[in-house]
Amino acid sequence: MLRGDLEGEDLEAYVQSRIITTTLDKAVSWARGNAIFPATFGLACCAIEMMSIVAARVDVARFGFEAFRASPRQADLLILSGRVSIKMAPVVRRVYDQMLEPKYAIAMGACASSQGVFNNYAVVPADKFLPVDVHVPGCPPRPESLMHGILKLRAMIQQDPSMNWRARYGAEQTVEVLPEDIERFEREAAVNVAQPGQTSGA
Ligand code: SF4
Repeated sequence: MLRGDLEGEDLEAYVQSRIITTTLDKAVSWARGNAIFPATFGLACCAIEMMSIVAARVDVARFGFEAFRASPRQADLLILSGRVSIKMAPVVRRVYDQMLEPKYAIAMGACASSQGVFNNYAVVPADKFLPVDVHVPGCPPRPESLMHGILKLRAMIQQDPSMNWRARYGAEQTVEVLPEDIERFEREAAVNVAQPGQTSGA
C-alpha cells in the first residue's frame, strides 16, 4: 500500500486487521506449546502405540512434537507409555528430575494411570511418584487418543506457560534434596541418635 491510498477510518480498519499486539509471555507460550520434545522412553505395550504417532497417519510433527530426544536434558515431555513397576518407579522419577523446567508428563494407558490389569503390589500408578499433567485412558489408547492428550497439553501450556510443575501443583520443597539439606539431615539424625545427656558430635 502506498502513502495516501487509504485515509481515516479505512486506514484504521486496514491497520487493525493486519497488526497483532501481544505480550512476550504469550508469544513464548505459543512457541513452547508448539515445540515440545518428548523423551525417547517406552515402558510397555502402550509404547508401540506411542511410536506410531510420529508416522504418517497421525503425524504429530504437525504440532512440533515429533523430535523425540534421547537425553532427558533435551526433553520436556515424559510420556509414560505403559505400566511402571515399583522397582522401575525411581528410575522413571530420575529421568523426570533430569529434564529441565518447564516440563510435563502424560500418563498413557490404564496401567500408568491406575495400574490397569496389573492391579497388584508390583505396579504403581504414575501419580504416586511424579506430577502427571494429562491422563490418556485406554488399554492401549489408540494413537489418536494420545494425540488428543497431547493437544490438551498444548492448550494447557499455551494458557499458562510460565508455571513450572512445583507452582502448578503447589509442591514447593517436595522432592529434590540439595547438598545443604543432606548436611542438615545428617546433623538431625546425629541429634536423634544421641543418648540422653550427650551432645551431638555433628
Ligand atoms: S494399558 Fe494395556 S497396552 Fe498399555 S501397558 Fe497396560 S496392558 Fe499394556
